[in-house]
Amino acid sequence: MDTDVSNVSDLKPRASREMDERARQLDTAFASLDPRERLSLLRDRIDGPLVFTTSFGLEDQALTHLIVASGIDVRFVTLDTGRLFPETYGVWVATEQKYGIRVVGYYPTTEDIENLVITQGVDGFYFSPDARKACCGVRKLEPLRRALLGAGGWITGLRAEQSPNRQGMGFVGYEADRGLLKANPLLDWTRDQVAALVKEADIPASPLHARGFLSIGCAPCTRAVAPGEPERAGRWWWEDEAAKECGLHATTDGRLVRVAQAG
Ligand code: SF4
Repeated sequence: MDTDVSNVSDLKPRASREMDERARQLDTAFASLDPRERLSLLRDRIDGPLVFTTSFGLEDQALTHLIVASGIDVRFVTLDTGRLFPETYGVWVATEQKYGIRVVGYYPTTEDIENLVITQGVDGFYFSPDARKACCGVRKLEPLRRALLGAGGWITGLRAEQSPNRQGMGFVGYEADRGLLKANPLLDWTRDQVAALVKEADIPASPLHARGFLSIGCAPCTRAVAPGEPERAGRWWWEDEAAKECGLHATTDGRLVRVAQAG
């Protein structure tokens, strides 16, 4: 017998519908606010801890500054994959010192790393998309799962301009898989706006940016880009453009999280 699925939202649990609605309202409100006001509104409207995941790139550094300036209660975390650039640790230290905060590191488990390297070799991620996704799964996704446990909201430094994939994102969305609201307060900012704030406020920034690394991730999976190349062209440069997300910002079925638009 056919099942009428014409109104799929009716099939969602009530709590999920309520969270979708809350995300929609925040998404609409964000459009007319600046990033600092967006952060304050998030803190007002979201129950439970707010977690900000930073990778110490330019956007994340600007957001750290804005979070501290806004005085809201946010937990700063980073995913230390074990394959980061030495320069990234320098920015980590400088950021904690400048702002008087602790950025909590989340790590892959010893057992997961040992099994990964046994299975695919130490640099196995170069040899197939599946191997690369397995490495990101162990070094990023599983630690992220633990970092977000119990959180009510997740703040990221994503910007729409960074890639075609990210242009489909909204300011705020409900991630049913993780049971939290995800917010991108810098979504509509340009790289020039971010760079201007970093310069003006003397925010610690990676020396790699000046050497052409616009987007900084793990050292073996990031290269500098030439003038005019897309910002994320240096990430997993050996793979198809369409596949270039590490999974942090995708749902479990591989789709990027899209946010229901208002109206
Ligand atoms: Fe592994 Fe590269 Fe993903 Fe880092 S970016 S977790 S080294 S595949």
